[in-house]
Amino acid sequence: MSRTQFGSLTAEPGQRRHGWVSVPGVEPPWELPAVVCRGRVSGPTLAITAGIHAAEYPGIAAAARLAREVDPAQLRGTLIIIPLVNSPGFYERSIYTNPRDGKNINRTFPGDAHGTVAQQVTHFLTTQLITGADAYVDLHGGDLIEALVPFAIYLRTGRPEVDDTSQALADAYGLDYVLAASPDTVRGSSYTAAARLGIPAIIAEVGQQGVCDPHSVSRHLSGLRRVLGHLGMLESDPAPIARPVRLSRFEWMYADTAATYYPVVAAGDIVRSNQVIGELRDVFGEVLQTLRAPAGGPVLFLVTALAVKKGDPLLGIGVAE
Ligand SMILES: [Zn+2]
Repeated sequence: MSRTQFGSLTAEPGQRRHGWVSVPGVEPPWELPAVVCRGRVSGPTLAITAGIHAAEYPGIAAAARLAREVDPAQLRGTLIIIPLVNSPGFYERSIYTNPRDGKNINRTFPGDAHGTVAQQVTHFLTTQLITGADAYVDLHGGDLIEALVPFAIYLRTGRPEVDDTSQALADAYGLDYVLAASPDTVRGSSYTAAARLGIPAIIAEVGQQGVCDPHSVSRHLSGLRRVLGHLGMLESDPAPIARPVRLSRFEWMYADTAATYYPVVAAGDIVRSNQVIGELRDVFGEVLQTLRAPAGGPVLFLVTALAVKKGDPLLGIGVAE
């Protein structure tokens, strides 16, 4: 049977319950706000997280809204929503990381019960939320310093029963691009860990630069409703969606040195391989490096901070092969 509870938070059929669930063994406590919405009729379980990156606001707002709006009387199956995973980072307005151990939570999945704080949190999410769910959606967007065009990403595991459902979830979300990431893609992500456990999963990316704009919130919300429709958990949203552009590789560029960053492209631009995309300069304005695109395709995200540290991402290009 599919999961119908998260940690100590349970709901009876036809009930919606919300509360705070502490990650076991973490001191001071790391509390996860959680909502379990259980339909009267049994069916699949959809797990949703948001705010793994604490300043990606539209996903956080959309998850909270969905949790309030879904009527258990209309729902088939169980919806479990964690609208804000990185609660310690939220009030700090942390970019990428959490203030407790300085780690990017989305590089620590599937976690470790005896690891750092972030690894303990992701171990708890992996074992108590993702395992036992029938599908998993993790909401993101451009971080506080990132411009972004909406896209969904899933992992190609090589197992059709997982990959086909992940792709269908990504398509249902109704975003501009769908990226089918190869198995050698960044490890430690929510969706890659879930897919490796056999649970169809996507990350949906909408919104940017620390703005909680209503358009991005409603894009996340309508995507989630269409996913619920696709899974047969709610009456389907009849609004038609355009076919997404399919991409098969995510090429990131990183800063080789601490510098000031002057991109000459925007998020959503289609760049050619080897095209100049910007410069790294020192604080006097002296050019340190002319940056060239490592591949051709749409710029899915672009860092918009003038300041970059060595090793920081600069942009990500989606490649169709
Ligand atoms: Zn993110």
